[in-house]
Amino acid sequence: MRYLSTRGHAESQAFCDILLGGLAPDGGLYLPEIYPQVSAAELAEWRELPYHALALRVLQKFIDDIPACDLKTLVDRTYTAQTYRWCRAGRDAGDITPLTTLAPGFHLLELSNGPTLAFKDMAMQLLGNLFEYVLDKRHETINILGATSGDTGSAAEYAMRGKRGVRVFMLSPHGKMSAFQRAQMYSLADANIFNIAITAMFDDCQDIVKAVSNDAAFKARYKIGAVNSINWARVAAQVVYYFKGYFEASKSNDQHVDFCVPSGNFGNICAGHIARMMGLPIGRLVLATNENDVLDEFFRTGVYRPRSTAETCVTSSPSMDISKASNFERFVFDLVGRDADVVRELWKEVDAGRSFDLSKTPYFAKLPQYGFVSGRSTHADRLATIRDVWQKYGTMIDTHTADAVKVAREHVDARTPMVVLETAQPVKFAETIQEALGRDPMRPAELEGIENLPQRVAVMPADAEAVKAFVVRHCG
Ligand SMILES: *Cc1c(COP(=O)(O)O)cnc(C)c1O
Repeated sequence: MRYLSTRGHAESQAFCDILLGGLAPDGGLYLPEIYPQVSAAELAEWRELPYHALALRVLQKFIDDIPACDLKTLVDRTYTAQTYRWCRAGRDAGDITPLTTLAPGFHLLELSNGPTLAFKDMAMQLLGNLFEYVLDKRHETINILGATSGDTGSAAEYAMRGKRGVRVFMLSPHGKMSAFQRAQMYSLADANIFNIAITAMFDDCQDIVKAVSNDAAFKARYKIGAVNSINWARVAAQVVYYFKGYFEASKSNDQHVDFCVPSGNFGNICAGHIARMMGLPIGRLVLATNENDVLDEFFRTGVYRPRSTAETCVTSSPSMDISKASNFERFVFDLVGRDADVVRELWKEVDAGRSFDLSKTPYFAKLPQYGFVSGRSTHADRLATIRDVWQKYGTMIDTHTADAVKVAREHVDARTPMVVLETAQPVKFAETIQEALGRDPMRPAELEGIENLPQRVAVMPADAEAVKAFVVRHCG
């Protein structure tokens, strides 16, 4: 399997060569040259597999430059009941992404049972093991530099902690994350994890990462890498749970299943699009946004208008607070018939801070054939949905999942099962749960009191040079 860039200029690459990088050299995103297909016989065999075995089958379609026995070891080590142990009570221990049925034909797929209680663990834990394996083979090291407003940073740190050849330098906005999120990250004692709290906003953290990465000499000398949501391996790992969710929610492989996905950077739902392109019988992909509705606007109108920083608001589903969606280019590449020239022209506009409008093009007319529909949710909707799901079904959901449940309900079709992806556990967003339910969310016993553990974090001003100096000091 070779990978090409959505902007058409880069040489095609093998999986391991794009694993450690981010963007293609031409500024595009990597995608498989052709989507691997699943046969009816494969679907029949895969239906009964436990998660780790299913993951191997799916990932083998995308990864042909790691020997099968090595890949099996990495995948088996990643998807264990021990790592994904925070399933709600009473589950079969091997079932790491259980399906909860709320009402007939309406389900939640739990993806937040990993170490940081958000779905990002599903892919990031695999990335940690893949990085260690490939770096070891190549006798290389990497210094991951990232910015986080919460979920991504902790998922990256828990995936990379203790990994040979990897250091993580994670910037977060000082005092802007919840006490629980701070405790999750800053209490890690591993020698290869470095937390840096920047006395500014998340966007300033991101700007520092960009500034450091744009210093080509520094980047090469200190082997600066990233694990952000455009990383292809993360998208590939996420394809697996669409298969799992499909099998859980259907009785036979001639049925269709709809999925609803709370979306920010379009990474999660992009994996659903790819599963559908591989031949998994997904009916519709329902995209849910919060008040930051750039994607909902596109799927309704054909206009993609990235927002300014001033227009982007902080919401109670903060992991979906985006001004533009970094993985969206992957879908548009398919939508325009994989014409890299068209993508390049469109992103010339986006990169200059402008919008593009496909509404009067034949591409927009093709949207339904990709199954996409969309909707948006607000703070009031989240509160009402969390309350309703709690009162009706006794299930507590987090704010992001609530956005998806709200939008999914607007799109249910009585003949097709709907699977809502549950992307985080409520304990991560306790304030809003309090506001909705007047009670605290439950938390896994092992995480009781993590706010009281000693914390390790360097506080710094928003200054790229200071961050570079810190990296240099800690690279030995
Ligand atoms: C990251 C995240 C999302 C958004 O996922 P994308 O892949 O960026 O679309 C939704 N919910 C939670 C809890 C997240 O952490």
